[in-house]
Amino acid sequence: SPIIMWFRRDLRLGDHPALTEACNSGRPVIPLFIHDDVVAGQGAAPRFRLGLSVASLRDALADKGAKLILRRGDALSVLRDVIKETGAGAVYWSRLYDPISKARDTAVKAGLKDDGIDAVSFRGHLLFEPWSVETQTGGFYKVYTPMWKSVRSRELPNTLPAPGKIPAPDSWPASDALDDWAMGADMRRGHDVVLPHCTVGETAASHRLGAFIANRVADYKAARDIPGIKGTSGLSENLTYGEISPLACWHAGWRALHDGKGDAEVFLKELVWREFAYHLAHHTPRITTGNWREDWDAFPWKTDERLAEVKAWKQGRTGIRFVDAAMRELQVTGTMHNRGRMIVASYLTKHLMCHWKIGLDWFEDQLIDWDPASNAMGWQWSAGSGPDATPYFRVFNPVTQLDKFDKNRDYAKAWLAEDYKNPSQTALAFYDAIPLRWNMAPDDAYPDPVVTAEDGRKAALAAYKDRDF
Ligand code: FAD
Repeated sequence: SPIIMWFRRDLRLGDHPALTEACNSGRPVIPLFIHDDVVAGQGAAPRFRLGLSVASLRDALADKGAKLILRRGDALSVLRDVIKETGAGAVYWSRLYDPISKARDTAVKAGLKDDGIDAVSFRGHLLFEPWSVETQTGGFYKVYTPMWKSVRSRELPNTLPAPGKIPAPDSWPASDALDDWAMGADMRRGHDVVLPHCTVGETAASHRLGAFIANRVADYKAARDIPGIKGTSGLSENLTYGEISPLACWHAGWRALHDGKGDAEVFLKELVWREFAYHLAHHTPRITTGNWREDWDAFPWKTDERLAEVKAWKQGRTGIRFVDAAMRELQVTGTMHNRGRMIVASYLTKHLMCHWKIGLDWFEDQLIDWDPASNAMGWQWSAGSGPDATPYFRVFNPVTQLDKFDKNRDYAKAWLAEDYKNPSQTALAFYDAIPLRWNMAPDDAYPDPVVTAEDGRKAALAAYKDRDF
């Protein structure tokens, strides 16, 4: 009987243990993608980007003579329908670890088991299963560095080649048309503005990794902090949909290290930050929804999204150049440099004293590399409420940070039009990306700060001192 290969965040053919096992069984394989509540519940930008990824997988499967079946509805009901229609006896998938996906998968597994169907989950989204990494006393890691030390020299399997052949069933079940799903159509100017900044699909992801290792990893340590240059891999966009496996990135990093590119170790460390985020999401799922340190529930965060300062932050007009450049980069490209993310998160949670959830939700709606675990960890790290976080009293100064990391103002020039007689194309593209009601134009005067670097810092420190943590 056929095996249903249920694709989710593993939209590739290479290094895909579940797909390989299904193909090696010799049984017909029916690739399936389900547009369920978990997909529908994602923000506009991640759904838009997911649609591109699904299209790319569909085409890659077609090249191998297989068909990606698309269905919409509750995952278990859809699987039951497809099982009934095809006589499938098993469902394979790659494990996910965020609380929402885990709850769904647990229910699906139980339901299929009741029906007498084999439901088998495989590795593929992480390097290290969260339960396989333990501290010396047997608990999970709440601090990054000891986790890095404990996993860095682990032997990991080689990557798997893409299956040569995907055994087809005698006939294919019906499928929705991807265009009818209009995924992410609610994302403003996705196709016009954001799409040119996307690198979509398994082949492109693999080239991206190759180019990064060949040309950039050798200088990664210093270059990764400079937002005005292309110093990082950009792979978060691909890792989040599984267009490339973390294992492929890991082995490429190790090979570069052995080839004498010492900075590759920093790249490996970053991959382990991603692992750490999932380790935390698995062991303490509350990290995605509430303060990881519960004493932070008492902090006087502002929670009203309608506040003028929240709007200014979202719209990239706080009057603080680093913050505004980064928020506009997000509108145009659907991503933001890591240093930008740290600066805008610090400014929102410390200078403006707004709850990190406001920022988390905005990123979830706007990022094409949105990842449930890394986004939650990043926000709680920045706010000071998370594990191994930057302490609340360490307030980034966004003005001196710009002087330090954007000395020549390449980043500012790329994203801010108001300061320049001849604004850059990317800075102007921002005005195409935003809704008219934001009422912004390139020849506006650059705004005064909503809260200055110094005033915000003083207010944040005073509020923190009062709480007596
Ligand atoms: P590179 O520098 O090339 O790093 C290689 C890979 O390592 C990345 O692709 C990513 O998978 C991983 N990585 C690097 N830094 C981190 C980190 N700090 N935490 C976890 N993994 C990391 N990353 C996301 O993938 N999705 C998110 O939604 C997300 N939200 C964030 C929110 C905030 C507030 C902050 C501070 C960080 C967030 N990050 C998120 C982490 C980080 O900013 C991005 O992973 C990174 O900018 C991606 O660019 P890159 O692929 O060029 O990274």
